[in-house]
Amino acid sequence: MSTKYVYLFSEGNKEMRNLLGGKGANLAEMTSVGMPVPQGFTVTTEACTRYYDDGRKIAPEIQDEIFQYMAKIEEITGKKFGDKENPLLVSVRSGSRASMPGMMDTILNLGLNDEVVEGMAAKTGNPRFAYDSYRRFIQMFSDVVMEQPKTEYEKLIDEMKEKRGVSLDTELTAEDLKELVGQFKARYKQNQGVDFPAEPKTQLIEAVRAVFRSWDNPRANTYRRMNEIPYDWGTAVNVQSMVFGNSGNNSGTGVAFTRNPATGEKALFGEYLINAQGEDVVAGIRTPSPISHLEEQMPAVYRQFVEIATKLENHYLDMQDMEFTIEDGKLYMLQTRNGKRTAAAALKVAVDLVDEGMIDEKEAVMRVEPKQLDSLLHPQFDPAALAKAQIIGKGLAASPGAANGQVVFTAEEARAWHDKGQKVILVRLETSPEDIEGMVVAQGILTARGGMTSHAAVVARGMGTCCVSGLGDMVVDYDKKQFSIGDVVKKEGDFISLDGSTGNVYGEAIPTVDASISGDFDRLMTWADNARQLEVYANADNPHDAKQGSDFGSEGIGLCRTEHMFFEPSRIRAMREMIVARDVDARKKALAKILPYQQGDFEGLFEVMGERPVVIRFLDPPLHEFLPTDEGDIKEIAGDLGITPEALHNIIDGLHEFNPMMGHRGVRLTVSYPEIAEMQTTAVIKAALAVHERTGAHIVPQIMIPLVGEVKELKYVKNFVVATADALIKEAGSNMQYEVGTMIEIPRAAIVAGEIAKEADFFSFGTNDLTQMTFGFSRDDAGKFLDYYYENKIYESDPFAHLDQSGVGVLVKMAAEQGRAANPHLHLGICGEHGGDPTSVEFCHSVGLDYVSCSPFRVPIARLAAAQAAIKNPR
Ligand code: PEP
Ligand code: MG
Repeated sequence: MSTKYVYLFSEGNKEMRNLLGGKGANLAEMTSVGMPVPQGFTVTTEACTRYYDDGRKIAPEIQDEIFQYMAKIEEITGKKFGDKENPLLVSVRSGSRASMPGMMDTILNLGLNDEVVEGMAAKTGNPRFAYDSYRRFIQMFSDVVMEQPKTEYEKLIDEMKEKRGVSLDTELTAEDLKELVGQFKARYKQNQGVDFPAEPKTQLIEAVRAVFRSWDNPRANTYRRMNEIPYDWGTAVNVQSMVFGNSGNNSGTGVAFTRNPATGEKALFGEYLINAQGEDVVAGIRTPSPISHLEEQMPAVYRQFVEIATKLENHYLDMQDMEFTIEDGKLYMLQTRNGKRTAAAALKVAVDLVDEGMIDEKEAVMRVEPKQLDSLLHPQFDPAALAKAQIIGKGLAASPGAANGQVVFTAEEARAWHDKGQKVILVRLETSPEDIEGMVVAQGILTARGGMTSHAAVVARGMGTCCVSGLGDMVVDYDKKQFSIGDVVKKEGDFISLDGSTGNVYGEAIPTVDASISGDFDRLMTWADNARQLEVYANADNPHDAKQGSDFGSEGIGLCRTEHMFFEPSRIRAMREMIVARDVDARKKALAKILPYQQGDFEGLFEVMGERPVVIRFLDPPLHEFLPTDEGDIKEIAGDLGITPEALHNIIDGLHEFNPMMGHRGVRLTVSYPEIAEMQTTAVIKAALAVHERTGAHIVPQIMIPLVGEVKELKYVKNFVVATADALIKEAGSNMQYEVGTMIEIPRAAIVAGEIAKEADFFSFGTNDLTQMTFGFSRDDAGKFLDYYYENKIYESDPFAHLDQSGVGVLVKMAAEQGRAANPHLHLGICGEHGGDPTSVEFCHSVGLDYVSCSPFRVPIARLAAAQAAIKNPR
């Protein structure tokens, strides 16, 4: 049987998400439970994939199938597509498996032409409505299907309003709109070189093609990369018979959530516009009324809506985000989906649903997206500074959080300033999906127009970025690069602050303080901890970070980069002295200066962590990061070494490496200079003994040798470590245990892991270097060219952010298996950046690692991701 590419809403259900997309599956589900859904059909995601496989063409048999289903809709609705007397109009909307709000395109009122519009005007007795629908259709078709500039059409509307002396679209008459339609068509022809297509079937196929094409537009690609949505999923297309919210004052359209998407509070939350179509609400052109107002305006419709909303939430057992239209006093549901929400709302909804008996604790753990937690863990305004700060305006509290930064007015500037290391606030009249690149890098987003469900608000909440929208008093002048609120004028580069929880805007940069977490967060994390099988450690180089990780729930330190302890100016000199030392004596002298610092730092770490594991990695400084460059430093160091500055210059020149990342670093340094390993071992062991002495804690320090690629390398250095440690422990009369392990971060180490495991107590996968060396591109420079790889779909995401499971991951899996086979006691973990990335954590769970280690702020994210991995796939 040939593939079926089109499904009526009455043929699907909510389980068919992969094929019908989220929107299509849910429209089918609502149809099947008897809700008032305008009927239509879904062209499947497989048709989209086929469109791309066929070289961006819709195969004739798919076109035929679409027309067959159009005939079925005509039968169901009793209307006819393209008919003058009783026309069927449709909407055409995208809908992929994962919801991608505002990322793809929608076309409404399709099926209109000069004749049909007249018929519609006569049938409804409402020519204004008919022409309003027609001008919207031409506008959307020109923009979405033909990619003509939106602004040209908006300008024509503005000119018409000015000519008529009115300020709102709704004040334009039927005649005005008819005239506009004429102007729009002329503009279309001017841009396109042909007439606007009058044939509804042509309009339909062109629209379906445009939705398929929109799957590959730049903003959809950016959104997919951020959210790890695979390109090959494709989007479905929903063709639905139109109902009209713009047919008069007894009609309207809106969006609503069953719970507040910003706070999670259990109360219907949303907004609507009378006499409008859906795009007006989402685009934020007019500011809508709160949903509660509908109770007064249309009590019966409101009651019915509340009933449906409750039923939907109980059916999906989750907070719903719904779109509805009222046509002449009758309610229709156009969409429902699990609502996007802030992290705070996600926690509250998940915990409340458990308390309400709707879901169990494991399900609650699955309901919060791990990377969303990020926004809760980051700083808030310092309350004292906030109390003193001057509020310059107040908009809608669209997405919570605290942000300060310098004002910029375009997405491109936001990007450029961000790339220079500046923190920016993106200020726009309203945002549109084209602004996504700028929104991603901005600390916060401020808009003059738009409600809580405008594009800016929805996208910002999804990204966890602070956003204040709908600040109506703000006048934005893009040409002068400034905005004003009353007498206050802010120019590009000026500092402001936004409070996304109150909607307040401040005319200065207010300092922020660390977030504190409790309540719902704690409860959910306890459930997560009960479910997970991976341990979660933090990467921490000093007691402050160790404490931060510990506060966020880390169970150990998986990586202390000892060279980072020497970034401070007071210490870096000693480190440099050690690096440039040309003989053992000079090096030993420098190491003697380093020792007390190291021992003190390690004591600090052991004190914070008590008996929890602490993995201390021996020096791994790519030399270029530490070589002296400043003339003053060179003079002083030369003095200490008893040589001339010229001689030191020669040494520095001699240490220059063409490829420092593959140079004299890691274990290579200790193979050349074992006295470094002796000093570091002394610092670790003495620190552990001292803290044991003070606190009684039984510490088992773990010493980690980096960049090993050959077992003999490890063995050679380990001998110095063991000899030094054993002597110190014996001298102290102690029986303290310690472990010596290695990083697996060179492909060769993964290949010969079975050999290396015989000499190691543990492996820690250094996936930063392992990725760098497996791909053969520098972790410091890859950013410069990876964009080309994303654009050309060679790589879908940054392999330094998300572990490359089919390449690097294979090495990890192989090394873990061979290591365990050779040494059943081998403890396995990961300490590369991937340790805090949810999909990579899931991978670590699946290959049987014991722990992941990540930066302190990502510890809760890793805990939750580990729990989700264990719930999905227990091991
Ligand atoms: C690694 O390479 O993954 C690692 C953790 O070490 P570093 O980032 O310090 O090279
Ligand atoms: Mg490394």
